[in-house]
Amino acid sequence: MQLFNTLTRTKEEFIPLEPGKAGLYTCGPTVYNYAHIGNLRSYIFADILRRTLEFENYDVTQVMNITDVGHLTSDDDIGEDKMEAGARREGKSIWDIARYYEDAFFVDIDKLNIERPTIVARATEHVPDMIDLVKRLEERGFTYETEQAVYFDVTKFPEYTKLAGQALEEKITAARAEVQEDPEKKNPADFALWFKATGRFKNHLMQWDSPWGMGFPGWHVECSAMSMRYLGETFDIHTGGIDHIPVHHTNEIAQSQAATGKPFVRYWMHGEFLVVSGGEKMAKSAGEFLRLQVLTDKGYDPLAYRYLCLQVHYRSKLNFTWESLDAAQAGYNRLKAFIDVASRARGTEQPWVQEYRDRFRDAITDDLNIPRAIAVMWEMIKEANTRKELGILDALFDFDQVFGLKLHEAVASPDQQELEPEFAALIVEREKARAAKDWARADEIRKELASVGILLEDRPEGTIWRRSSQSS
Ligand code: AMP
Ligand code: ZN
Repeated sequence: MQLFNTLTRTKEEFIPLEPGKAGLYTCGPTVYNYAHIGNLRSYIFADILRRTLEFENYDVTQVMNITDVGHLTSDDDIGEDKMEAGARREGKSIWDIARYYEDAFFVDIDKLNIERPTIVARATEHVPDMIDLVKRLEERGFTYETEQAVYFDVTKFPEYTKLAGQALEEKITAARAEVQEDPEKKNPADFALWFKATGRFKNHLMQWDSPWGMGFPGWHVECSAMSMRYLGETFDIHTGGIDHIPVHHTNEIAQSQAATGKPFVRYWMHGEFLVVSGGEKMAKSAGEFLRLQVLTDKGYDPLAYRYLCLQVHYRSKLNFTWESLDAAQAGYNRLKAFIDVASRARGTEQPWVQEYRDRFRDAITDDLNIPRAIAVMWEMIKEANTRKELGILDALFDFDQVFGLKLHEAVASPDQQELEPEFAALIVEREKARAAKDWARADEIRKELASVGILLEDRPEGTIWRRSSQSS
């Protein structure tokens, strides 16, 4: 199985640390607001990765964090605390805010048929692990302390810019352009491991005791502490959106490797952004954004959104438009309609299907080429229709272990499944005639089937049939 590793910028053969197992860490949501459909695209990508590993028979342990400790509106330790801003906006306690949005997040995850992580780790429940990590870094001489915080000194870690492939000078210049709120910080790229509850954070709502006094952990330290806790000091795969490459994941690598002296993650994988109106990224901090709920309120199936995401490779931008969602909904309906019809025909799988199974596997193991896998699926359906051999349901359901489109639910009810193959083929032919607006042919087929006691009913999700009472 080939995966594109951001660390080396090449597709590499996936070789797990332990044969047959895969440890996967997925950067989870900051729960101060609802997830938007861009965030959800990132989790669909991680889900596809997990399902593909499972399809390839790996025993996967997936860990996801819930960032319920404040993290600042900028990745670079500046701005206000996102969680506290959310609590103030809604007049709720910060703990209520966190639980409310965590629950809302999992409602969306379930609607999109994203498998729940094996372990969900809340930052607020792992603060001692984070303190331990900061202590280890302190003992090994990678930190310094100011009035405001404990910082990681990036100049002590020579590989700091490896993941982003950016020169440290560039990064420092970029960071310097932003407001620096701590005059004692030595280097603009240094990042806080622990914030002290003094000065601007005196009234910070979430505080814990630590060797550096009351305070709270930096955001980056959360993911290092929690991933290593559950997956070990070196583990297989870490995912996130591409925005995490230059700061969050760069910092995770620095603090983890500096603390353990071992490589942290073997394969770094990053999902490209969903963009709207000509390239703008969707961002929570920008105010306006689309939630999954907005899509379902307009009558779209959440899985039509999932289907849309499957049609774009995870390393390409997805330009979201309502037209593209309409097309995805129509395609998903066509797929379910085929399954409904094919489940009534009950053919057995013929040898020609194997080629499609092989091509499907080639696609998904080629750095998760799901768009190609979807194309393979449609080609297989086309060939089944042409041959009038509809026995491809098992293959479709196997593919759906990766797609996650709940295709099983489109199967017709048992009393409807005993249609003779030649009649099933006629229904398929009529579907095609209807799609081509050949109403005359469609009508002809309807009459032909009626004459043998099979009545058709056209529904938005496809055509269903039943036997007329006279014929039985
Ligand atoms: P957050 O809750 O803001 O930490 O983001 C959750 C995940 O969504 C992270 O992995 C981000 O990289 C990712 N993300 C944020 N914005 C987008 C977007 N417009 N498209 C795709 N992924 C995104
Ligand atoms: Zn993270």
